[in-house]
Amino acid sequence: PRLPYDPDNVFAKILRGEIPCKKVYEDDFALAFHDISPKAPVHILVLPKGPYVSWDDFSAKAPDAEIAGFIRAVGTVAREQGLVDPGYRLLANIGQHGGQEVPHLHVHLFGGRQFYGMIS
Ligand code: 5GP
Repeated sequence: PRLPYDPDNVFAKILRGEIPCKKVYEDDFALAFHDISPKAPVHILVLPKGPYVSWDDFSAKAPDAEIAGFIRAVGTVAREQGLVDPGYRLLANIGQHGGQEVPHLHVHLFGGRQFYGMIS
């Protein structure tokens, strides 16, 4: 990958329990918690537990069970949060042009209001 995985990134610390989070879901493959600086009424981050920086890194290296588990977890969180009927938005920022700040792969799950524009 462009960047080696940094085990001291903030989400690695959250995964190890060294920094608290407002957890909404956890299983063997994924952890989900509220974003510390929410951009919508519902703003949850869903992470695969493994040490992957990017989508390309994850998709190339992760065992199929981890990929399936992560994708399934995103859907489970959306259902558990009651977002299925009104709908929701998923976003992954990857690398520099993607505006990624935390170098542990994560998906943003936004909900609770209508979204309009695609990107900025
Ligand atoms: P991205 O890497 O996708 O650009 O953004 C990282 C996201 O993580 C931001 O929305 C930011 O608010 C969130 N974030 C950064 N540090 C923490 C933290 O310590 N706890 C939580 N819950 N969210 C964080």
